[in-house]
Amino acid sequence: MAIYDFDLFTIGAGSGGVRAARIAALAGARVAIAEEYRIGGTCVIRGCVPKKHLVFGARYSQEFEDAAAYGWTVQASFDWATLRDNVQKEVGRLSGIYATNLGKAGVEIIEQRAEIVDPHTVRLGDGRTITAERILVATGGRPTPLAIPGGEHAISSNEAFLLERLPERVLIIGGGYIAVEFATIFDGLGAATTLAYRGATILNGFDDDVRAHVQASLAEAGVNVMTNATPAAIEKVGAAFRVSFADGRSLEVDLVMAAIGRMPHTDGLGLEAAGVQRDAAGAVIVDAYSQTNVPSIYAVGDVTNRVNLTPIAIREGHAFADTVYNNRPTKVDHAMIPTAVFGHPPVGTVGLTEKMARASHDVVHVYKAVFRPMKHVVAGNPERTLMKIVVDGVTDRLLGVHIAGQDAPEMIQLAAVAVKAGLTKAVWDQTVALHPTAAEELVLMKTREPDPA
Ligand code: NDP
Repeated sequence: MAIYDFDLFTIGAGSGGVRAARIAALAGARVAIAEEYRIGGTCVIRGCVPKKHLVFGARYSQEFEDAAAYGWTVQASFDWATLRDNVQKEVGRLSGIYATNLGKAGVEIIEQRAEIVDPHTVRLGDGRTITAERILVATGGRPTPLAIPGGEHAISSNEAFLLERLPERVLIIGGGYIAVEFATIFDGLGAATTLAYRGATILNGFDDDVRAHVQASLAEAGVNVMTNATPAAIEKVGAAFRVSFADGRSLEVDLVMAAIGRMPHTDGLGLEAAGVQRDAAGAVIVDAYSQTNVPSIYAVGDVTNRVNLTPIAIREGHAFADTVYNNRPTKVDHAMIPTAVFGHPPVGTVGLTEKMARASHDVVHVYKAVFRPMKHVVAGNPERTLMKIVVDGVTDRLLGVHIAGQDAPEMIQLAAVAVKAGLTKAVWDQTVALHPTAAEELVLMKTREPDPA
């Protein structure tokens, strides 16, 4: 007779938890998964998926503008409720598919909050306790709150998907993935949009040329980009908000959205009770197999703050299940991960930035192209595409590819194969250019940028 109620109890039905639970169950384990909100987690419910649909929706304004040069007369008007509700319908559909797939694999879904009581026990929201041989923490992250006077007036991306109406004037605080994506969305949908970033150039951590390019493009598209703007206070003024900055500037808007990072979601989870160690940022510390210092407790995804991206959470969840339930010890390779910012223009990037490459390699060669994609030329659209390749000057191997421009995320997926494979620039260049595309420029960059003085 089994000692425990389940072999595996997973807390959190997001990307990582769902994958781990399914693979473990398919391997024969008795698995339960608890979710306090909706099956699917951040990516499906209030992240990647609905965000991408809002980006699709927001792009139409530019498409309609460009269409005129191609002979079309379009009388466009926009209805936020239609977009919001259609996106939510799709979110509901996907959440249902996740639940169905869990059920098909034999996973028991418990739509309640679960907290850890001890290394083999969880307590559910209804007070029941359940025991399991192993517990997997896959609770993801949550938006970092804006800790300034009046900070509670700022919404996070969680609420942005469900707005009653589209605000006329929006301020977005932050300069990372979410801030850039939502500035692009609100601007595209017609709101007067300001992005306030505390530093000089947005998208910290990305290649410097990409950062400058996106910042200039956003401004050119009509976003009011405020730099060196540290928010100091938010005050409610009637139905609007007055936001003041540390340097004395201020701004009145109808909606303030904070996108200042995300933090591991571990509040009240009982990790202390079980003796699970966390780092200074609150992330659960795990080894290469996602095991915590408590042998029966594992953790995957954003709650471990390794690389906070959906495909990584999925891989970590899968690797955990393979390691423990398929007798196939698997580590996740966190190197050379392609990533995208669905902004204006979109960014696709993989590998080392020029700065990172110069810090870690003796000889670095850089190739760059900046051009207007064909379609934009006829349309009179000033948006330009930037492509940049960073190469190890000693081995000729590709170290990084960075694209900011139309379709960049689609292009970078394939460029990432070459970078991951350690392809040399010589072989990359032997690839015939596919004409006429924007992507062809990637294999036509033959002239090295001069080395920095
Ligand atoms: P990011 O870490 O990307 O960016 C946070 C931004 O907020 C930075 O510009 C940061 O400035 C700024 N900031 C931090 N603290 C403060 C503060 N107290 N006051 C003002 N500004 C502040 O976080 P996001 O919230 O944009 O996204 C969270 C994570 O979600 C991402 O890192 C990514 O892992 C994931 N994500 C991925 C997406 C994708 O793959 N397309 C899309 C959306 C999210 P500074 O640069 O100076 O530190």
